[in-house]
Amino acid sequence: MLTYGHGDVVNGQDKHWREGLSPWQLTVEGDRWYGGRGTADNKGQHTLNLAALEHTLAARGGQLGYNVTVLLEMGEEAGSPGLRELCERERELLRADLLIACDGPRVQARQPTLFLGSRGLVNFSLRLQSRERAYHSGNWGGVLTNPGIVLAHAIASMVDERGRILVEGLRPPALADNIRRALREVQVGGGTDDPQINSAWGEPGLTAAERLVGWNTLEVLALGAGSAERPVNAIPPLAVAHCQLRFVPGTPWQQLSGIVRSHLDAHGFDAVEVSVTADSPATRLDLDNPWVGWATQSMAASSGKPVTLLPNLAGSLPNDVFADVLGLPTLWVPHSYPACAQHAPNEHLLASVAREGLQIMAGLYWDLGAPGLPWQRSAPAH
Ligand SMILES: [Zn+2]
Repeated sequence: MLTYGHGDVVNGQDKHWREGLSPWQLTVEGDRWYGGRGTADNKGQHTLNLAALEHTLAARGGQLGYNVTVLLEMGEEAGSPGLRELCERERELLRADLLIACDGPRVQARQPTLFLGSRGLVNFSLRLQSRERAYHSGNWGGVLTNPGIVLAHAIASMVDERGRILVEGLRPPALADNIRRALREVQVGGGTDDPQINSAWGEPGLTAAERLVGWNTLEVLALGAGSAERPVNAIPPLAVAHCQLRFVPGTPWQQLSGIVRSHLDAHGFDAVEVSVTADSPATRLDLDNPWVGWATQSMAASSGKPVTLLPNLAGSLPNDVFADVLGLPTLWVPHSYPACAQHAPNEHLLASVAREGLQIMAGLYWDLGAPGLPWQRSAPAH
């Protein structure tokens, strides 16, 4: 088994934590373990796995019955620089039958969750520089192109007022039946700290879970023209939109730049420049892979609860390195929950979820040393 975690964290954001809390100090308030930075993402999660592994090893008299390779990186929050190259170079050292790793949130705090990959992302910027400097809107308004207005229309041609993606090449393939089935029972939001979700946002005809997990979303992350904080009576020279496509497998994301370019040209926005700034592929282990049933059964037996099976995490992970470079079936068992404030002030881990996570992981590690595993059945020559 290969397991993976990351020891790096995002910025502490010290000043923005609630009074009495700090990213550098552990503070226990009831079920919540606040600080330090990384309790949920990701130190708490892989520490818990290592503890479960230690207990399983002791319970098995020092013989797990399989080998374990632990890969911890320190660059995940910066896009895992070098991880792919390392795995390409050290294929032999990292050889395994299976990846079991933990990151991200469960669908709900009380709901053990298994996910099989992640959505990918492409960050790209749209930029329209109409001239070198601003000009007085009274002296020139009516005869100068306003790049803010043009860019707003360019964005509107790509995604409608309810968040539906209008560019065919940025839309995913139709939802497969087994993905629909897996998502049927999945509830999105509803937790105490969760935002109110908008049932009319995004692709019409899909459930919230289908829109979040099984579909693509095009977001504007930041938008600028002139100064929103201190507007002046002038036509701004420049407008910029930093956009993001989150996508599921099957989307031609490598061609995003060309797809957006052709779309803008076809809609009369030839002057708007497109540049891709970051990307990460999408992955998803086949829902019918025998390891999926194996893990779901083990997790249900250990927790005494039904397990939510997510085809992929809505967020992104460097899972392509494990799935594509190392060719592993990938199982992800998250020990956090949606309102954990990961990447924000007041990040915390729920002790109750961590305790259940310990049980679940010890169960998986135990069962992995028992006979009748998927690879023993499906690949006898291994
Ligand atoms: Zn993170």
